[in-house]
Amino acid sequence: MKQVRVRFAPSPTGPLHIGGVRTALYNYLFAKKNGGTFILRIEDTDQTRFVEGAEEYIMESLKWCGIIVDEGVREGGKFGPYRQSDKKEIFKQYAEKLIDKGDAYYAFDTPEKLEALRNESERSWKTFNYNSELRENLINSLTLKEDEWRSKLEKGEPYVIRYKMPQNEDIHFEDLIRGEIVVNTSTLDDKVLYKSDGMPTYHLAHIVDDHLMEISHVIRGEEWLPSLPLHILMYRSFGWEAPLFAHLPLLLKPDGKGKLSKRDGDKMGFPVFPLYWPYGETAKGYREEGYFPEAFINMLALLGWNPGTEQEIFTMDELINAFSIERVGKSGSRFDAEKAKWFNHQYLQKKSNSELAKEFREILRAQGFNDDIVRLEILIELVKERVSFVKDIWEQTDFFFKAPESYDQEAVKRRWKEDSGVILSELKSQLELISDFSAATVEPVIKAWIEERGYNTGAVMNAFRLVIVGALRGPHMFDIISWIGKNETLKRIDTGINLLSVEN
Ligand code: GLU
Repeated sequence: MKQVRVRFAPSPTGPLHIGGVRTALYNYLFAKKNGGTFILRIEDTDQTRFVEGAEEYIMESLKWCGIIVDEGVREGGKFGPYRQSDKKEIFKQYAEKLIDKGDAYYAFDTPEKLEALRNESERSWKTFNYNSELRENLINSLTLKEDEWRSKLEKGEPYVIRYKMPQNEDIHFEDLIRGEIVVNTSTLDDKVLYKSDGMPTYHLAHIVDDHLMEISHVIRGEEWLPSLPLHILMYRSFGWEAPLFAHLPLLLKPDGKGKLSKRDGDKMGFPVFPLYWPYGETAKGYREEGYFPEAFINMLALLGWNPGTEQEIFTMDELINAFSIERVGKSGSRFDAEKAKWFNHQYLQKKSNSELAKEFREILRAQGFNDDIVRLEILIELVKERVSFVKDIWEQTDFFFKAPESYDQEAVKRRWKEDSGVILSELKSQLELISDFSAATVEPVIKAWIEERGYNTGAVMNAFRLVIVGALRGPHMFDIISWIGKNETLKRIDTGINLLSVEN
């Protein structure tokens, strides 16, 4: 295989969709697996779709994901500029080369004229196709004499440059995912390569850039597959060797019906972008929702590629090792928001308590509390298994930091019995006698006392939990009281007995 050079070539038209992140990821994995180079090229030649902030957003997203760019706008490299608008003059020369070869032409049709033709076809129920038949009846450098069209150019009349699609020719090409494909050119139209605003279109710009940047493999979304015959023909016209192509299947909505969109995310409450998008119509991001980048990447990697084994958890290095284009599926993959959470849960379990404690401390501070890291580590160990996100730790542990302000009425009705107050007073006296408040010491003493008194363990422990937590939730009771300490435990028992015995 020749030196692997792949590119991710987004257009800065808004926040980067997770489908785009997956394209970047597969390019990256493929490059790293094959000792190659991963290039980030910004395709911003469509000025009408340019969105401020989008380029930065793309770069930040890749960085957050741990996708390291080897050559790009920020990183530099020998094949720059890496932003297409920074080299628009170059593209013009290449468009003219195609004209000289007779494979492209200047077209002078006005937008109004094209609109009228389009309406006409619609009226006669035909699909509008800008093909050889149409081109022969329009004003262009193929139908005009050379001095006529040159004089139009000199006068500065607006024009576009179009590719001259050959008539009725079978184009054969290979896609690494889909295999051999044949398309007849009679179904294709004369695409615009260069626009009246002095900018190339995507079709021209990316081919020229892929050639100049010595791209070996083009790995991109399948929405570009219909344009591939044109691209293959353009390589032929230029006399260049085409790279190899792999068109990735779509990321589908959870129900499998169509492409995953921002609307789906809004409706079902999950983000479809890696980072929060702060401009105009804002959008949620995986980072801000509390996902670990490793979990996000792991989840995305498996949406379209499978390792051929049961393994689901992969580090980036493991993904690089295991990745191959051959194992990318042909059909779209459904996005599964629950599975995304599952991945985060798995990664959270693997994080050390001290790492989680540091992150959790920020959330705790925002709630107006603080505690020392070692105590937070102990706390996290108690609830880790129940949470998928660091932010969930607060919901699981709020009562460690503050005494109940009210009691779950439903639980009180079911669990607070007539004798609960008396039993808890007795329990309090027992606890007062214990000086080492670790769970290991307190638990056997209290259990022995329950047994000796012939109480029902469930009844005692439920009432106990109600006064300490305020509801019937939380980890093991003896772990809770050991963490909040003896004084706080005794205080909460007192308050609980007073409030609940009066009420009930
Ligand atoms: N700029 C194109 C896009 O954003 C890139 C397609 C390609 O990779 O060739 O979809």
